[in-house]
Amino acid sequence: MSLAHGRHTLAIPGPSVMPDRVLRAMHRAAPNIYTGELIEMTHSLIPDLKAVARTAHNVTIYIGNGHAAWEASLANTHSRGDLALVPATGQFAHGWAASAEGLGIRTEVIDFGKRTPMDAAQIEARLRADTDHEIKSVLMVHVDTSSSVLSDVAAMRRAIDAAGHPALLMVDCIASLGCDRFEMDEWGVDVMITGCQKGLMTPPGMSFVYYNDRAEAARENANCVTGYWDWRPRTNPDYYYKYFNGTAPTHHLYGLREALDMIVHEEGITAVWARHETLARALWAACDAWSTQGPLELNVADIAHRSRAVTSLRITPPLGTALRDHLTDQMGVTLGIGLGMAPPDAPEWHGFFRVGHMGHVNAHMMLGTLGAIDTGLKALNIEHGQGALSAAAEILAGR
Ligand SMILES: *Cc1c(COP(=O)(O)O)cnc(C)c1O
Repeated sequence: MSLAHGRHTLAIPGPSVMPDRVLRAMHRAAPNIYTGELIEMTHSLIPDLKAVARTAHNVTIYIGNGHAAWEASLANTHSRGDLALVPATGQFAHGWAASAEGLGIRTEVIDFGKRTPMDAAQIEARLRADTDHEIKSVLMVHVDTSSSVLSDVAAMRRAIDAAGHPALLMVDCIASLGCDRFEMDEWGVDVMITGCQKGLMTPPGMSFVYYNDRAEAARENANCVTGYWDWRPRTNPDYYYKYFNGTAPTHHLYGLREALDMIVHEEGITAVWARHETLARALWAACDAWSTQGPLELNVADIAHRSRAVTSLRITPPLGTALRDHLTDQMGVTLGIGLGMAPPDAPEWHGFFRVGHMGHVNAHMMLGTLGAIDTGLKALNIEHGQGALSAAAEILAGR
């Protein structure tokens, strides 16, 4: 017998759970792409995309996943041979660096491990040593989705300024936007990238590059850029097709419109952050209870450096994979694989898993996931501390 029949829950860090409203908004006949509603609706997305990122600067939409945004952001700001500084707290920093290398941009990775945030003071020291200003950018991942480490963006800005260095601050918010607090303008971010399939609750396939005037000035001399990726014609375009340099992703746009209605106009972005905060605290309270006995452990010890979008956990291998498989097969819940914590062919790979709690997640969904994990620990006879669900309930009850 399996108890998995029923609505399946995807508790992975992207793609995230999509609201039925978003799906329904996409279920329609092909719209007129020449005039009328679609064009007006697309224009209406721009101010709301800016509101989610807390910026008055520019945003450009690309048809592509997060990897597309990595490349687009770099191509518009760098020339071949430029040097980018990449502080790493997990797999995704290395991914962005590889994307840069692929464009002919040199990278220098400063690795801060997989359990602690980046240290802005070390970045400041490196920038101070770069007296010729060879470094053109700092590529910072706000929340590294593999480790679930959250790093301090405002501290990075202060470090760059303290060093008196002109490097652009470029931030990957693909995991964090719409979950963890992010303030593009207040924190002095020059370029920010995100995708639609995580906090923005829309099926994978669109990504966004935000940029300010300093980044636009860098665009002037960037020779990595090609016609397709150029953000200039796409931002405030004179013809509709130029938004996308071709056919619009029509149905995705309707989905995003609905999602932004929910985030910006109904719940409000600060309330969205507060909900993610409370749900994450409930999860961590449960994890703290489980880890009083046995092998389960939160990857990031310091609460201040944990993401509100995704949580990485450690357990004796192969229990991570066993627990994930059990939840999928028997409980109807899929947890995220451990990513980048160990080589995929090593036994240690099976000692990690992640809980995605980004986007369209409420208290009962979180309790369902926690209850499924608790049940899985019991079914597999994995030693664990008691009281996890009531610890979570205390948080959700506001006590
Ligand atoms: C998901 C993610 C990416 C990659 O996005 P894709 O849509 O899979 O290409 C990059 N960076 C971070 C931080 C992510 O969470």
